Amino acid sequence: MNSEQIETLPIGRAEFATLEIFKNVSFESLAGYLLGCEILFAQPGDLLIDPEHPNHRLIVVLDGMLEVKFQPQGSTFSVTISPGHCAGEMSVFDDVKPNGYVFAKEPSRLLIIEASTVLAMIHASHDLCLNFLHILSQRVRNNNRVVCEEENQIRSIEESSKIDVLTGLHNRRWLEDMYTREMSRSNAGNFQLTAFMLDIDLFKSVNDTYGHLAGDQVLKTVAQTIQESLRPSDMPVRYGGEEFSVFLPGTSSESARIIAERLRRNVERTQIALPSGENIQVTISIGITERVANDTVRSIIERADQALYYAKENGRNRICMSIGNKEPSLF
Ligand code: GH3
Ligand code: MG
Ligand code: MG
Repeated sequence: MNSEQIETLPIGRAEFATLEIFKNVSFESLAGYLLGCEILFAQPGDLLIDPEHPNHRLIVVLDGMLEVKFQPQGSTFSVTISPGHCAGEMSVFDDVKPNGYVFAKEPSRLLIIEASTVLAMIHASHDLCLNFLHILSQRVRNNNRVVCEEENQIRSIEESSKIDVLTGLHNRRWLEDMYTREMSRSNAGNFQLTAFMLDIDLFKSVNDTYGHLAGDQVLKTVAQTIQESLRPSDMPVRYGGEEFSVFLPGTSSESARIIAERLRRNVERTQIALPSGENIQVTISIGITERVANDTVRSIIERADQALYYAKENGRNRICMSIGNKEPSLF
């Protein structure tokens, strides 16, 4: 190529050397191919690549800035492409419609290389081929990272939807899933399993006397006491309002009674500091039952609830156990 021809090239030797895609590539080996390439000037907002149209060109940013989005408007995820880097390299190879939108973010000067020229250049230069492999593997890595981040985000949203915001205990959504699993496991292996239903005594009067915020503080403190009084394998849940349920896998009714009594006493003793600065104490009633053959989550909770009702009927701040067909017994 003579010097006159070199002057007509869209980019010179110095600029060529700054581009990622041409790193370590000899200018002479590709100068002939550059002859047919164009320079495009784009204004902010100009759409260069979109999923509705096949893309058959590689866009190399010489000056300015491009932006890649996966939705044309309101996308939370975007990537910018700065001078030296390129867009469109995937669709040049696979002939599949692009999956993103590429806009000019700033006034930009772009080198446009048609797909057929890109392929011819690759045939002519191993170094260019290596650069492409490097760029494509970076894209794959970035995409994998985005997928992992999104998965983690989805998992944490799912997790948080199973937590009660006020008390930090698990909620009914979690119960449906985890209690059902635990019940199947216990039924299948004939393992011991006991259940509590637990309700704060005369809670309405706390709200009426001290206000709803005070009531919320009581709920939080009682939930914390429940959690601290149980073992990590126990499964406490805020069942609703001021009611809690607990599944105690691998626990006999006798042990469960001792645990319930400890829990009852711990709540009774706890001084609850209200937002107003006052301290109050509350009590709880607990209904206990143990798993029988072919129990379901619903049937075991119903029996524990009946025992709880009996404890309430018989003075509150006490424990009642409902075992099999026997009369509920108070402690
Ligand atoms: P008992 O001893 O028979 O259980 O009497 P109780 O007053 O505890 O029972 P009742 O069911 O009459 O009252 C429960 C109250 O719990 C009524 C409701 O307003 C209140 N409550 C339910 N959820 C919340 C909450 O998230 N925060 C507050 N502050 N109060 C709640
Ligand atoms: Mg109550
Ligand atoms: Mg209640």
